[in-house]
Amino acid sequence: MTPSNAIELRGLRKVYAARGSEPEKVALKGLDLDIPTGSIFGLLGPNGAGKSTTINILAGLVNKTSGSVRIWGFDQDVNPRQSRAAIGVVPQELNLDPFFAPRAALEVQAGLYGVPKAERRTDAILEAVGLLDKAEAYARTLSGGMRRRLLIAKALVHAPQILVLDEPTAGVDIELRQMLWAYVRELNAAGTTIILTTHYLEEAEEMCDRIGIINHGELVVTEETGTLLQQLDAKTLVITPESPVDNLPSEQGKIRIDMRPDGACAFSYRRSETGAEEVLDLARSLGISIRDVASEDPDLEDVFMALTTSKT
Ligand code: ADP
Ligand code: MG
Repeated sequence: MTPSNAIELRGLRKVYAARGSEPEKVALKGLDLDIPTGSIFGLLGPNGAGKSTTINILAGLVNKTSGSVRIWGFDQDVNPRQSRAAIGVVPQELNLDPFFAPRAALEVQAGLYGVPKAERRTDAILEAVGLLDKAEAYARTLSGGMRRRLLIAKALVHAPQILVLDEPTAGVDIELRQMLWAYVRELNAAGTTIILTTHYLEEAEEMCDRIGIINHGELVVTEETGTLLQQLDAKTLVITPESPVDNLPSEQGKIRIDMRPDGACAFSYRRSETGAEEVLDLARSLGISIRDVASEDPDLEDVFMALTTSKT
């Protein structure tokens, strides 16, 4: 049976114990989060927000302090085996055993997950991530990009319903990044729920259908990517005048006016306070004859700034 949410977190808290002169650190402050089955979900936040802590708890690499974790409908504490079988995690660090070549590494991983020999798809997975010709190469001779791909391959050996990638494109070149995304989209189209963390806003905007933003161990917002972009209040209308204008005020009421180098006039305002009609009226009253109007939508960078600065 397919659950409606691939992941359900309730009141998830993590406190790292004090160590030496380091005080204890509250990394997660009671996170509630649902990740719908079938989505490509982006967990977004600045460094130190708690993304890896969340992922590592899902992976079973970090023990939560309190709260509950459901993976594919299975409570991690009640059904550890089933919840573990449903998820494959690609960690942020490139930690690979230097003694295993890719094919051997996948076989060992399949063994760990109890995948019967007859059901293993080792070479198919190697081929999918472009490592078949490196199947017998020593891990230490693999480039950073190849190591990243091997980690993805390892996360896939037990054919998990959920694939989690922690900062998959950090330090990865553009070519590999595109290959990676194409493959992730393919997996998603074939039914795998994808969760990725990133602090690249563009990446989340491009890849994810749903985004959760966390900061200081708290969920700031979770929303469909499109809706999230719409939610941002700031709006700019760029008006191209028929003939050059000058001597415009830099501000008129709640509307800011900037001249662009190409002669266009940018009117910035808050959607909740001002309507587009009002802006056009203002432009006309300033003596601008309007040739063209374009609207500039905010990108995730703006959304992120607006949401996190208002809550901290
Ligand atoms: P992110 O992945 O979003 O950058 P992390 O989950 O790695 O954030 O870290 C969240 C917070 O927890 C940070 O303040 C970090 O310093 C702290 N932290 C992470 N891992 C440990 C650890 N093993 N011991 C102590 N503190 C940690
Ligand atoms: Mg991290």
